[in-house]
Amino acid sequence: MIPAVPIYLDYQATTPLDSRVLAAMMPYFTDKFGNPHSTSHRFGWEAAAGVDLARDQVAALIGADGSEIIFTSGATESNNIAIKGTAYAAFPAKNHIITAQTEHPCVLESCAALERAGFSVTYLPVDSAGLIDPDELTRAICAQTSLVSVMAVNNEIGVIQDLRKIGAICADRNVIFHTDAAQAVGKIPLDVRDLNIDLLSISGHKIYGPKGVGALYISNNIRQRPLALFDGGGQERGLRSGTLSPALCAGLGTACRIAGQDMDQDYAHVTALGQRMTAALFGQLPDIRLNGSTNQRYPGNLNFTFSGVKGDLLMRELRNIALSTGSACSTEKTEPSHVLAALGLDKKQIDSSVRIGFGRMTTPAEIDTATHEIIRKISKIRDLLHPDRKENRNG
Ligand SMILES: *Cc1c(COP(=O)(O)O)cnc(C)c1O
Repeated sequence: MIPAVPIYLDYQATTPLDSRVLAAMMPYFTDKFGNPHSTSHRFGWEAAAGVDLARDQVAALIGADGSEIIFTSGATESNNIAIKGTAYAAFPAKNHIITAQTEHPCVLESCAALERAGFSVTYLPVDSAGLIDPDELTRAICAQTSLVSVMAVNNEIGVIQDLRKIGAICADRNVIFHTDAAQAVGKIPLDVRDLNIDLLSISGHKIYGPKGVGALYISNNIRQRPLALFDGGGQERGLRSGTLSPALCAGLGTACRIAGQDMDQDYAHVTALGQRMTAALFGQLPDIRLNGSTNQRYPGNLNFTFSGVKGDLLMRELRNIALSTGSACSTEKTEPSHVLAALGLDKKQIDSSVRIGFGRMTTPAEIDTATHEIIRKISKIRDLLHPDRKENRNG
């Protein structure tokens, strides 16, 4: 049976907007329409007050101060400012940066742009669990290194890098540490001071906030502030010119406030859902694997390889269940996942992998329906491809 109502299991691509977030945004679309950068009248002050509150709410979630947060259009822009802005600020004294092979495309493409401009970039490999080796990072740092950019939670497989170790190494070697925390902020505890993080990227729409807004944390103690990537009125401490949207800022701020307040509850919820699905899949399907570290992971992101079952075929069969192959972040690219390749999966294994993501609004009933359908379709596809195996199993 195809579920009548579509089931959304693609929370890494985007999350539903929390209704409490929408409520906080609404006044800024109507009554409080002022330009937050207008300093000569109350319309401006009112909008600016909303932006300031939101800034403090974002900061509070990561243990920062409001003065250390700039608003951007999303994690893509935050990553661009952090990586290119820092590389250019440190140039020509330093011309080398370090990242990991499993980063989000916007990080990898920012690095590729720097390479085209003459910078040198080290792409750290990961082990079969998806984790970088801190010793390898230490060895890669040289006198020319200005920046290390390693993500917190991976968007395709959910593994969590050891930010504490990476932060300590960077602090020890006087290198700026940036982390793309789009999938981590609000989902796992993160304290920028505790972890020695200098720059941290946030996205609104990955944490039940609106699309089109994000933030970049820039430590007040940073050795070198990034350069702005474009010019204008000098808003956001000169780093991000252009008029802010108070509605979007309020949405991000409220999403952060709720994420902080509900984190334990959200985490317990996704843990229970993940265990429910994983147990059923492993219990009823042979030849499957969970990709990425089993213990260092965010439980709301499961990436499975179902041997012999093409991911795109499975997704077509599961018409009312929204899953992804994990590489959907890059538009219209059908190249095999660079993340799974970095883990050592071959092309066939990558082609038969799918990402299942769930979160705050997902119900146990949805997980049960989806699990049941996934098991049914996979068994059907496998039986069609290998009728002999079916006989063996039934006999
Ligand atoms: C979604 C995502 C981004 C991009 O965020 P946008 O706000 O959509 O620009 C960057 N990095 C990671 C890890 C993501 O999951």
